[in-house]
Amino acid sequence: MYMKAAEKFEKNKMENKIPAKERIIAWPRMGRIDIPLKALLVSLGANVVIPPANSNEALELGVRNSIEGICLPYKLNLANYIMALDKGANTLMMFQAPGSCRLGNYTKMAQKTLKSMGYDFDMVIFDMYKSKMKQTLQAFWHVTHCINPFRYYKGFSLGFNKFFAIDTAERLLFYTRPRELHKGDAEACYEKWLKITDETNSVWKAKGLKKRIIEDFKKIPIDKNKEVPVIYLIGEFFVLLDPYTNQNIEKELGEMGVEVQRQIMFGDWLEHVLKPSLFYRKESHRERSVRYSKDYMKRAIGGECIETIGDTVYAAKHGVDGIIHISPFSCMPEIVAQNILPKVSREEDIPVMSLVLDEQTGKAGYITRIEAFVDLVKRKKRQRNKLLSYTTY
Ligand code: SF4
Repeated sequence: MYMKAAEKFEKNKMENKIPAKERIIAWPRMGRIDIPLKALLVSLGANVVIPPANSNEALELGVRNSIEGICLPYKLNLANYIMALDKGANTLMMFQAPGSCRLGNYTKMAQKTLKSMGYDFDMVIFDMYKSKMKQTLQAFWHVTHCINPFRYYKGFSLGFNKFFAIDTAERLLFYTRPRELHKGDAEACYEKWLKITDETNSVWKAKGLKKRIIEDFKKIPIDKNKEVPVIYLIGEFFVLLDPYTNQNIEKELGEMGVEVQRQIMFGDWLEHVLKPSLFYRKESHRERSVRYSKDYMKRAIGGECIETIGDTVYAAKHGVDGIIHISPFSCMPEIVAQNILPKVSREEDIPVMSLVLDEQTGKAGYITRIEAFVDLVKRKKRQRNKLLSYTTY
């Protein structure tokens, strides 16, 4: 038994061509996942490089080095890698998933492209739908060689608590922004807590972040009686979570007086993916989606297609005022969803708008479409309220 473990350890050591101490780790940008991931990896003793946030410059770099038809997230991920490698990274982390979605091929494609560009690096893959805690720990061991259980405890506690703190701050930002009395209060509070979350280095303090964030947001003066329509933001994972890619749609909607409820939150998703099923007692987002989409889809076909349909039906049955569906150009699972959505919208009586994003998407046209949709949703809400008041009368 001992011999077997020793052999495995030696084999793994041989496979790790870069010694742990010399590894400089990087991963793609997506929203603020850099904050918890950095905390986790640094706790395990790793050196990390964080590429700059997604921008026009990154997009241009990604487009230049990708094949034309590939989806937008790949182009930005590739640019993130190039920028990180230029800043000294030698180990790249990648999240991959199986199914009909092209994400399963991203790693190999990115690896091939980067090697052909002359970069030398090691790529560590996290297969999120296969991995549970055990595989995830192995992948982290692979890049850090950390064997100290206390460091793992600290890293995972910090990481998870920071993920949940960011989710809480985002939800409160979405609720407060359309109701705040002084424009900018909610945004300033959110930015302040992002900074504090990033700087928190003790597990005890990280555990208290959520409560402190809620208390601080409660202090912002808001108009509680303001009529605010609720719009669900649904669609493809990456575009939902990355504000550059979705052109900061949450902020735009908030400033138009709409409360956004994004249906994919990173902390929730990670908890479901990593937590052993024995300890995950609630219904997951995927399970809820399968239940609600059964009249329109027979099975999941990859990406977030089934979540898109399930969330729309769920929203209609729970009094939500409208749906904005966002997806990257050429994303197959969301193209399927987009074709089913008009039927769902008609039969469930809920306004739905689909927005497809790519590197050509212009801000002005995009905002005009959102404004027109928000007007429609507000009008429909007013009519419904009027009808309700007549009925009550
Ligand atoms: S879900 Fe769509 S955009 Fe996202 S990786 Fe898959 S194919 Fe690309």
